[in-house]
Amino acid sequence: MIELAIRGGLVVTPDGQRHADVAISGGRISGIGDVGHASREIDATGRLVLPGCVDLHTHLASTPTFAPLDDFEHGSRAAIAGGVTTVVSMVYQEEGSLRRGVERGMRDAGRSLADFAFHVVVTDPNDDARAEVAALVSDGHAGLKVFMVSPRFVERRDDYTLLLRAAADAGALVAMHAEDHAIVAARTAELHASGRTGVEHFPESRPVEAEVKAVREAVELAERTGAAIYLVHLSSRAALDALREGKRRARVFGETRPLYLYLTRAQFARADAALWVGQPPLRESDDVAAVWAGLADGTLDTVGTDHIPHLRAAKLAPGLSFDRIPPGVSNLETLLPMLYSEGVRAERITLSRLVEVLASAPARIAGMYPRKGALAIGSDADVVIFDPQAERTIHAADLHSACDYDPYEGWAVTGWPEVVLSRGEVVFQRGSVIAKPGRGKLVPRAPSAH
Ligand SMILES: [Zn+2]
Repeated sequence: MIELAIRGGLVVTPDGQRHADVAISGGRISGIGDVGHASREIDATGRLVLPGCVDLHTHLASTPTFAPLDDFEHGSRAAIAGGVTTVVSMVYQEEGSLRRGVERGMRDAGRSLADFAFHVVVTDPNDDARAEVAALVSDGHAGLKVFMVSPRFVERRDDYTLLLRAAADAGALVAMHAEDHAIVAARTAELHASGRTGVEHFPESRPVEAEVKAVREAVELAERTGAAIYLVHLSSRAALDALREGKRRARVFGETRPLYLYLTRAQFARADAALWVGQPPLRESDDVAAVWAGLADGTLDTVGTDHIPHLRAAKLAPGLSFDRIPPGVSNLETLLPMLYSEGVRAERITLSRLVEVLASAPARIAGMYPRKGALAIGSDADVVIFDPQAERTIHAADLHSACDYDPYEGWAVTGWPEVVLSRGEVVFQRGSVIAKPGRGKLVPRAPSAH
């Protein structure tokens, strides 16, 4: 017996797009095509039927010294309302142990509305931590994260190289924040020495060359160690050129984030510029064009949000120098509708490419495919019924994040999620999140193949 049928929408599957019904039983997709009688039905005429999005880059978990404004409960509520049904959060190595970071993540994610997984940020690549990698991978935690921009990455380069080897052996994907520490530190010191500490100098403190140098170094490390690496939040034309070149030599994936698709460094002329501070900074309009082209031509594999909002007052606190402004913005709820509106409607990317970069590719890269990221028989019934005609203006007050501003306040978009299902359960319907905290489940990640 079919429990739920979604009738008459334009369904985007791995094989293409067609008008079809989608049948759901036992939380999974049980049929696509002409499906028979069902206990419940949803009419999706005139709607798009898409797989739930998979965001490989969020910061919803706490650390011993930091509790995010959008914790798992708030952040995953925003995610669900935006059609993101799986969130991967960073967790941090704790007291030397990677496992302890994951355990904290599991406790925090006990309030998640969305399904979830982790990347473990490695701040101390000691022998014991490296020895933990294989067991974590066999428990489904097949992801690490390394901040190349941290001074520790420079001081402990050999240990990080060994960590990447351990990741390669065990099949853990290594997410990397690619900005060169030495360049950023030198620029920051120069600016401080000449009293140029205002937010308008933030872009100069983290130039494109810092990103490019780190991307090249990450590719070299991937080549030398055999690790699969995932370069997060790439922002510039030159970094994408380096990524494209690197893909010929090593297992390298590239992510961008919404900020680099919609805004330029012109934002930093505003009095409230700090609201858009993220690392790396906003770039030139030529970089924005390159990021769109890279998304369309496959140089970039995914769009991840790097969701980590801070209240206006924290971003705009008086007297903060550019390097003390808490980095990051809200993005989970607007990820899909903005990329549809600015990407698909504006004919910069196709609908199938949108599904690829927001759902299929991230699921594949993170070892969750085809359980997540596809509308296919046997996949989890994570489904977005999307109204391509819905017109909205983005206002923070209407969104589910705990943040009191949105980086795209006032943007007019066309297209918005109407109904969202997670494992066959309706979790969002016509503006309301119905899901309860704690319903989200860990998605065990398969090791990345050699
Ligand atoms: Zn991040």
